[in-house]
Amino acid sequence: MNTNYIFVTGGVVSSLGKGIISASIGKLLQARGFKVTIQKFDPYINIDPGTLNPYEHGECYVTEDGFETDLDLGHYERFTGIHTTRNNSITTGRIYKTVIDRERHGDYLGKTIQVVPHITDEIKRRMLGEGTFDFVITEVGGTIGDIESAPFMEAIRQLRWELGRKAVCVHLTYVPYLKAADELKTKPTQHSVKELQGLGIQPDILVLRTERHLDDHIRMKVASFCNVDLECVVQSEDMPSIYEVPVSMQHQGLDAAIMRKIGIPVGETPAMKSWRDFLDKQRNTTREIHIGLVGKYDLQDAYKSIRESLNLAGIYNDVKAKLHFVNSEELTVQNVSEKLDGLQGIVICPGFGQRGIEGKIIAAEYTRTHDIPTFGICLGMQMMVVEFARNVLGYKDANSAEMNPDTPHNVIDIMEEQKNITQMGGTMRLGAYECELVKGSKSYEAYTSNASRQGGEKSAQLSSNSEALSIVGEKGEGLLTKERHRHRYEFNNAYKAEYEQAGMKCVGINPAADLVEIVEIPDKRWYIGTQFHPEYSSTVLHPHPLFISFIKACK
Ligand code: GLN
Repeated sequence: MNTNYIFVTGGVVSSLGKGIISASIGKLLQARGFKVTIQKFDPYINIDPGTLNPYEHGECYVTEDGFETDLDLGHYERFTGIHTTRNNSITTGRIYKTVIDRERHGDYLGKTIQVVPHITDEIKRRMLGEGTFDFVITEVGGTIGDIESAPFMEAIRQLRWELGRKAVCVHLTYVPYLKAADELKTKPTQHSVKELQGLGIQPDILVLRTERHLDDHIRMKVASFCNVDLECVVQSEDMPSIYEVPVSMQHQGLDAAIMRKIGIPVGETPAMKSWRDFLDKQRNTTREIHIGLVGKYDLQDAYKSIRESLNLAGIYNDVKAKLHFVNSEELTVQNVSEKLDGLQGIVICPGFGQRGIEGKIIAAEYTRTHDIPTFGICLGMQMMVVEFARNVLGYKDANSAEMNPDTPHNVIDIMEEQKNITQMGGTMRLGAYECELVKGSKSYEAYTSNASRQGGEKSAQLSSNSEALSIVGEKGEGLLTKERHRHRYEFNNAYKAEYEQAGMKCVGINPAADLVEIVEIPDKRWYIGTQFHPEYSSTVLHPHPLFISFIKACK
């Protein structure tokens, strides 16, 4: 297989949007008919971000094969529709663990194990990957000059040398605007490229992040100081939406520049019709609706995929979803109406641990009794269930066993297979499991109705791809889907009959283990909780049907 490799690094500062640029390159090459994959290499020592507090590293994104990964993989999937796996997210910790395990196994008998070549060889092996792709895009986390990313840079330097023209280095830097001088400054970019050159890597393409438009004079200056062709200096200006980035990069010829570097005939520029249709729809959407996110992490990135899923579902419903964070730790019976009034829908967010859960329960009660569309996700669903037990079934002390292991009414209980687990990393019920939807339920309707096939003919065509909706087939009366999970606790089936009798229905069941995956109250406008995370499988061209249907109910 004649695979080509694109390495994406960043300099000057973090948060330049390397993930968005990597995803955009992936999208543009896909549009040219290439088979592409994107992987992220993170320099930290954790094996995966699963054990990290979201304040450290934002949301933890879960792949279908049950790996806890960096949130950039969410961008890759949303932009390209690729289904990533554990091979797409690598950390220094994983690299070292592989090498150390091998050493203990005796595989290097007699040798001294060193960063070069043993660690760098393992990095290179993973960078080259295993699949059959036309392009493998590798994004390296962190900033050039960081001590911990040095082995990754050395691996790229070596691969570059070995692969010749089949490897292209794209470097992102920042061009700050100094207000007092009224000038855009290229010096940080020059320094960053020097740093990279000092590591033996000459970038082929520079992407300059900027808040102001850079004229040709500045691009020429950067090109000549950094030994890069002028056509290979592109700019990434602030955009009203991240989904505009691929089109802007295509307009500046980023994909064409990559192909020329490798020596592939460039050919015609792809139209990317469905993507552009989506952008048109986004630009023309003006009507706003207001959605509350009840959670404990006051940080945009903590609920990244939920935010993006709501935004996307909004656009397909012709509304701009304005999201408002509602801190669950500050919600009380006294202030709940003041905090939630004016919001057309509420999402009760996932999470772990005691902090903020009483606020989630208060929100669930308020929206249930006031019939405000409500979407509970994972812990959010569990708190809907606890609230229902306390206030409808009359079990005042009902709780999740996570919060109170001794509760007499453990309506949410630890899963059997989780009981003896002592290792915390990577041991939850993770990844895609089947869910059978009960025919006639609101959830079933969401997955099958025209509403979820989205407004307009163009969208209908977008979602006719059932794979994207994770629908895997029909089963008896129901419909079988596959959804991604990340949890240890679960609806307690001992209470199922009572719930159903009192009006909360279990309408999504995992057939293999008889686990409740979806609850809903059919009498309400939209009151649905999912044990799984639909946000992980919502993409730009195929937003998840539950988000589409939720927003439809909100508006
Ligand atoms: N803490 C809950 C559990 O482990 C919910 C997890 C989540 O929201 N992702 O079951």
